[in-house]
Amino acid sequence: MNRREFLETVAAAAVVPTLALQDAAHEWGSPVFDLHFHLRPQPAGNIAHLDGAGVTKANLLTRGSALDQLKALQATAPSRFTWFSSYDVTKSDAEQVLTQAVKSGAQGFGEMKFHVAADGPELRRMYALAADLRVPILIHFQEVDHTPNEGTWSTGFAKTFASILKEYPMTTFIGHADAFWANVSADYHNEAVYPAGPVKRGGVTDRWLGDYPNLFGDMSAVSGSNAMARDPEFTTDFLKRHQDKLLFGSDCSCSDGHGAGYNNPAAPRMAGKCVARETLSVLKRSTSSVVFQKIVWGNAHTLLRIPE
Ligand SMILES: [Zn+2]
Ligand SMILES: [Zn+2]
Repeated sequence: MNRREFLETVAAAAVVPTLALQDAAHEWGSPVFDLHFHLRPQPAGNIAHLDGAGVTKANLLTRGSALDQLKALQATAPSRFTWFSSYDVTKSDAEQVLTQAVKSGAQGFGEMKFHVAADGPELRRMYALAADLRVPILIHFQEVDHTPNEGTWSTGFAKTFASILKEYPMTTFIGHADAFWANVSADYHNEAVYPAGPVKRGGVTDRWLGDYPNLFGDMSAVSGSNAMARDPEFTTDFLKRHQDKLLFGSDCSCSDGHGAGYNNPAAPRMAGKCVARETLSVLKRSTSSVVFQKIVWGNAHTLLRIPE
C-alpha cells in the first residue's frame, strides 16, 4: 500500500459512522424520530434497532431510576436519544420521583401504564404535575385483555377522557395503545383488541384530536399500525387532518429493526415483522412527503422543544 492508498483507507474508515447515520436517515426519505422506544439493557441493543429500522433518533421510555443506563447510552451515541420517565402512580412518592426525573433531564412522563382509571385520582395528580413542569404525559389506554387476566390500563378512555382534556387545558396529553387507536372508528365498543375493516367516521379519537389542542397521538405499537392499515381512504384524510398532532413511534421489541424475534400473540400477522418498518411503510404510502416528515420528525421536535 502506498502513502496515497493508505491515506484514502484511513479517510474511508473515518467517515463510516457518518455515512451509516446518513443512510439510516435517507432510507425513508426523511430523518425519523421514534417517540416510543423502551430502553434496552445494553447500549448496543438500542442502537441496533434504530440503525436496522432506519431511525435517526429515539425517545427512550424508562421506569424508575435509569440514569446510569441512560448515561452509558448517551456516551455511546451522543445526540441520538431523549428520554421520558415513568413511575408507579399509585405510590405516594410518585410526584416527587417524577419531578426529580424532569430535573435530571427527562422531557416527559411515560409511558404511564397502570391499572387505574383514566379519570381516577392517581392519574389526575400526574396530569396536574405534567402541566406544572411543562412536560407532556404519554398514556397507555387499553380496555381488552390480550391474554387471560392481563388486566386493563387507564380505563374509561372513550367515556371519560373528553372531560379530562377540558379540565386540564395546560396539560399536553399523548394518547397511545389499543383503546386510543380502536376509537378512531365510531362503531368500536371494546370488542376486539385490534379491530379490522373500514373505519366508521366520527370516532372519538379522531374528533378529539381536532377539538382539543392539548391532545396528540403516538402512532406506535400494533394498535397504531393497525389503525392506519385498515382503511386506506380514511388514513389519507386522517393524516392530512391531524398532520400537526401525530407522532411516529415504534414500541417494537424486535432485536434488529427487521423483525427478528417479534411475536405479539394478539397479532399473528405481525410475527417476524418490525413494527417500526410496518408503520413507516403505511405512513409513507398514505401521505405527502411534507406531511410524512412532520409526523416522523418535525412534530416530535416541536413538542419536546428539541432543536432539529
Ligand atoms: Zn404501551
Ligand atoms: Zn423492530
